[in-house]
Amino acid sequence: MCGIVGIVSNKSVSANIIGALKKLEYRGYDSAGIATINKGQINEQKCSGRVDNLEKILFQKPSNGNLGIGHVRWATHGIPNKVNAHPHSSEAVSVVHNGIIENSDKLRDEYIKKGYSFKSQTDTEVITVILTDFFKIRRFNKLYLQNS
Ligand code: GLU
Repeated sequence: MCGIVGIVSNKSVSANIIGALKKLEYRGYDSAGIATINKGQINEQKCSGRVDNLEKILFQKPSNGNLGIGHVRWATHGIPNKVNAHPHSSEAVSVVHNGIIENSDKLRDEYIKKGYSFKSQTDTEVITVILTDFFKIRRFNKLYLQNS
């Protein structure tokens, strides 16, 4: 179980995401994280423990952006720590997830064989890797079609 929030606005969203995560904390409190997108760049901040810890990190290093997602975790795959905290981001995508991916081990092996590596022990990170791969293929196809 976990808590998930996503906000898009015409102003910076990180304070409202923190506020929402505090309200969702009953759903998971072993780690917390946020990702915002600013000028096309994903900015991810995570911590083990409660949302208060995340808030302190953001106070030191604000996370700007008008679009963002947040997560409070109740671990199912991988110990509760900062690396396993959500979001799980690449240069292309940032993912928060509630639940279990039953075939994550199989998918992980498949994508390791394709040359991808994983930072965390979570089942969730396979979604990040699959979407990153999908966006790479799509970008390649688009470039290919434009140039052929
Ligand atoms: N299965 C995911 C994990 O262990 C999500 C857990 C949750 O729902 O908080 O990270």
